[in-house]
Amino acid sequence: MVSATPLPILKDNYAWLLVDAASGAVGLVDPAEEGPLIAAIEARGGRLDTIFLTHHHADHVAATEVLKGRYGAQVVGAAIDIARLPRLDLAVNEGDRVPFGASHAEVLFVPGHTRGHAAYYFPAGGVLACGDTLFSLGCGRLFEGTAEEMFASLRKLAALPDETLVCCGHEYTESNLRFALSVDPDNPALQRRAEEVRAVRAAGRPTVPSRLGEEKACNPFLRARDAAHFAELRARKDRF
Ligand SMILES: [Zn+2]
Repeated sequence: MVSATPLPILKDNYAWLLVDAASGAVGLVDPAEEGPLIAAIEARGGRLDTIFLTHHHADHVAATEVLKGRYGAQVVGAAIDIARLPRLDLAVNEGDRVPFGASHAEVLFVPGHTRGHAAYYFPAGGVLACGDTLFSLGCGRLFEGTAEEMFASLRKLAALPDETLVCCGHEYTESNLRFALSVDPDNPALQRRAEEVRAVRAAGRPTVPSRLGEEKACNPFLRARDAAHFAELRARKDRF
């Protein structure tokens, strides 16, 4: 069983602390600021087995070398982007299984935000580390990929079980909520999520992880009919 805890870093990023209960293995997704992440690792006894990288942007990888040097963690990232990622110990492709303690991650190749974006799904625990592909109530910008690629990537993630925990790379939920309400104001599931998001943020807590089933009911980018509709929504959000 894998648990996932968001660790706020930088301005609005989340790294994710993963713990496999059976073995005690500890992982980090997208470590980009060493101070708070070392503090979190030390608070758990100073063990870090695996670093999972979703994509090459600095706000997802910047502390990788320091943490690997300090704890000897294995660094996992997409083979296709090996030249732009920190040095990988394990270069992975779509469908690969990455051992993590007594559990494992399944690799999902999800291009769109970048051309080498990977997501990691841990079936034991239903944890999805999806970086900047899927956000709560939103999705990543298309920096390197096409709308068709991103739409296909989101469809791939949406095929996971509804109870999957969406562990994304940023706390963008409030601004995503404003856009979602502008395109889908009469959606009762979205209205319920809006109340929850406002209460959680007012209390200063993370709005994530969310549940994939809730995203499918509320997130306009997962509700897009087809790639053309998705492209139109993404362009509108870029100007919103
Ligand atoms: Zn990014």
